Amino acid sequence: SFPAEVVPQAPEDPLFGLMRAYKADESPNKVDLGIGAYRDDNAKPWVLPVVKKADEILRNDPEANHEYLPIAGLASLTSKAAELLLGTSAPALAEKRTASVQTISGTGAVHLGALFLAKFYKIQGANRTVYVSNPTWANHHQIFTNVGLPIATYPYFNKETKGLDFEGMKAALAAAPDGSVILLHACAHNPTGVDPTPEQWRELVSLMRAKKHFPFFDTAYQGFASGDLDRDAGAIRLFVEEGFELVIAQSFAKNFGLYGERAGCFHYVASPSADAAELTTRVASQLAILQRSEISNPPIYGARIASIVLNDSALFAEWQENLRTMSGRIIDMRKQLRGKLEELGTPGTWNHITDQIGMFSFTGLNETQVLKLRTDYHIYMTKNGRVSMAGLNTRNVGYVAAAIDKVVR
Ligand code: PLP
Repeated sequence: SFPAEVVPQAPEDPLFGLMRAYKADESPNKVDLGIGAYRDDNAKPWVLPVVKKADEILRNDPEANHEYLPIAGLASLTSKAAELLLGTSAPALAEKRTASVQTISGTGAVHLGALFLAKFYKIQGANRTVYVSNPTWANHHQIFTNVGLPIATYPYFNKETKGLDFEGMKAALAAAPDGSVILLHACAHNPTGVDPTPEQWRELVSLMRAKKHFPFFDTAYQGFASGDLDRDAGAIRLFVEEGFELVIAQSFAKNFGLYGERAGCFHYVASPSADAAELTTRVASQLAILQRSEISNPPIYGARIASIVLNDSALFAEWQENLRTMSGRIIDMRKQLRGKLEELGTPGTWNHITDQIGMFSFTGLNETQVLKLRTDYHIYMTKNGRVSMAGLNTRNVGYVAAAIDKVVR
């Protein structure tokens, strides 16, 4: 059997541990600001009305069955998923420079990308180290490390301004060896809620081109961040239009509310060149081999739901409306939380709450304050002071602001 030196006890995933503690808390005032899943104003999970409709269509489809999908997944999903990211008229699509594979949601997409790079990013001038923002979604560290790719970090969050440390980020990317892999959050950075401006993205394009860096985009919040699918894909489209060879991990968990259905895609985009389509075909063939050995073929239910919506113009329009409902509620909660803290005269500045975007806000609360909020007020957030904005609603935002005010003083 395995001795403890060989298989030591691993720590519990901090986020899921937090969820458990929240569930066990019997206080009627408890507030869950931990897990990154949308909640409506009643603090309940929200099945998107458009997803309900797609579900109905699927259930009444006499042709529907439980057969395997192809290795690369549901083609009617992967093709629309690529259009959603790059824009329907993207030259990269017309020139067949994209290879798309359906994955186990965004996590599976990041993993497939990591696996692909671990196996093939051995070309001359390439540096196999993956640079991730400090901080980043904690799982990035595990996913890349698990496939044997070394990780390094670039500065991202400025603790003073609670905004982007753009100078630090640029300096680190400039100092990284040429041809490094740079992981970028396409929008609604997790955990900080801080994104580069369009102008800053253009600067990153120049810098990364000069350094021949390889962009690895992680996009888990398209449409969920601003309510505008095109706007939230702006950074990815910029890099593709600028001719970068890159990869994209795409999740449909948040923007469709299909968390547990594990719907997502991985995309490879080649630079424009005479042999780009042939290269893309080769990449697709290798992705298929990797996928086969990992999961054989991806899950079908969530893929069908997303595909039904993406392939029907009326349902697509309704989805956009649903996205505006979710993003709008979160933006409103940001305004309310900031407004209430400012009304109370809570020490510090709180503009970052509304400057930040997406599911999360990095509040700047320290670990002591976070733990005090948990023990004294039954408000649960991660130790780094990250708040899931979706956990706020019209009934608890005043209570949360008052509690923050108390622990900050
Ligand atoms: N990447 C980022 C930055 C995320 O925040 C998440 C979810 O929290 C994911 C990827 C993947 O999530 P999922 O595997 O549920 O699609």
